[in-house]
Amino acid sequence: MDCPFCAIVAGRLEASIVAQTESAIAFLDLRQAVPGHVLVVPREHVENI
Ligand SMILES: [Zn+2]
Repeated sequence: MDCPFCAIVAGRLEASIVAQTESAIAFLDLRQAVPGHVLVVPREHVENI
């Protein structure tokens, strides 16, 4: 599996983490659609919301 979000959660991919809990992690989007754009993803891999 080559999921960039899981790689960030596992620490294999660098990211600017701004917040994290037991079940989710939030980090700055590399493609900053607007300044400060943050992605929040679950620690467990999911295919769809
Ligand atoms: Zn994943």
